[in-house]
Amino acid sequence: MLSEIIAVGSELLTPYRQDTNSLFITEQLNALGVQVVFKTIVGDRRPHLALAVRYALERTDIVILMGGLGPTEDDRTRESVASTLGVRIQRDTELLTALYKRYAERRTTMPDNNAKQADVIEGAEILPNARGTAPGQWLDIVFGGHRKLMMLLPGPPAELKTMFTSACLPRLRSILPEKHMAHRVLKMALLPESEVDARLAPIYTRYKDVETTILAHAAEIQLHLHSSKPTQTAAESRVNELAGKIEEEMDDLIFSSQNETLEQIVLYHLEMRGATLAVAESCTGGLLAERLTRVSGSSRSFLGGAVVYTNELKTEFADVPEELLEDYGAVSAQVAEALATGIRRKVQSTFGVGITGIAGPSGGSAEKPVGLVYIALADGQQTEVVEKRFSGDRERVRWWATQQALEMIRRKLL
Ligand code: AMP
Ligand code: MG
Repeated sequence: MLSEIIAVGSELLTPYRQDTNSLFITEQLNALGVQVVFKTIVGDRRPHLALAVRYALERTDIVILMGGLGPTEDDRTRESVASTLGVRIQRDTELLTALYKRYAERRTTMPDNNAKQADVIEGAEILPNARGTAPGQWLDIVFGGHRKLMMLLPGPPAELKTMFTSACLPRLRSILPEKHMAHRVLKMALLPESEVDARLAPIYTRYKDVETTILAHAAEIQLHLHSSKPTQTAAESRVNELAGKIEEEMDDLIFSSQNETLEQIVLYHLEMRGATLAVAESCTGGLLAERLTRVSGSSRSFLGGAVVYTNELKTEFADVPEELLEDYGAVSAQVAEALATGIRRKVQSTFGVGITGIAGPSGGSAEKPVGLVYIALADGQQTEVVEKRFSGDRERVRWWATQQALEMIRRKLL
């Protein structure tokens, strides 16, 4: 079964508002084994709306419209659907009475235009709105000789979610063949997407019944594996089989196969080892500590550290020798190493991390360009220092530096 989601509202075509409802609906439909093959965003103009509805009916089996069910002039979803289907709209007296009652209970009079919300498309079932005034509508029709399901849902996310879950889901479940879904996410840090795909495409393309998506974002590659089968066991076994093959190929480059974050994994390994961590951060300004402390329970392994932006504080808080700073400059492998060993010794942790670099956009030179970052990891015996030249803006450079540090700790703990 293929479906299309139509988000209605001119505000969704401006830079100020985003269609988020469709993400929820897509998740819900996927869980029923229904694929979303088109998403349309259309403004509040009747000819455009009617066109969008017609296209959707021609190319998919399930059409979900959201928004434009309100009482105002720009709410035209009902009219557009009715005109596309060539059916009439009737004002439902029961709905109208309920609307009047709702206003009376609040001791206000209902504005006349509000009566529009009692308009029902001929042949539609009314979906009650537990969270607002605009009821939804459900249509089970024949269009172009094929059975089509259509839902008209309100735009406000809370109303839409409640209505979809309470009224649409049970109806869809009773109509659609039973499908079970399995989903796995495998994650890798810092690798180029093209490299991952080159290694994995020969493997995952052999699993035609598992949908594989590669997403690269924030120094992380996610591999989403998705399968839909008549039983849960069948779906899971296909996804797990492919995941196993991928894990064989990428080996310990995969840091998570259950959707954990890199910081969660690092903390998990630290705790397993009974090890502790402290950080001395310059250009990342505490971002590494922030990422670690976001994880609940991080205090069991993460001791803390220092944000050492100036040379003086590098010396005072992380015991970086003044001569090092003078001889090599704050952004240097030597200072990164001294930060890592210094903070480690100072707080008596198992591991110490030092980060120093030029996040930009200013402050770079020919010798030390923007994006140059040194990341060091000390364990008391040896200190590993990595020199990186990250591209991109300040935020990206800082994020990648913390990702590099976390990945270094993870690999050390393997
Ligand atoms: P409407 O039902 O068209 O009157 O929409 C009411 C409000 O719901 C809008 O002002 C938006 O703030 C919100 N809304 C409508 N459509 C969406 C959507 N697709 N995603 C998120 N919010 C929406
Ligand atoms: Mg609207």
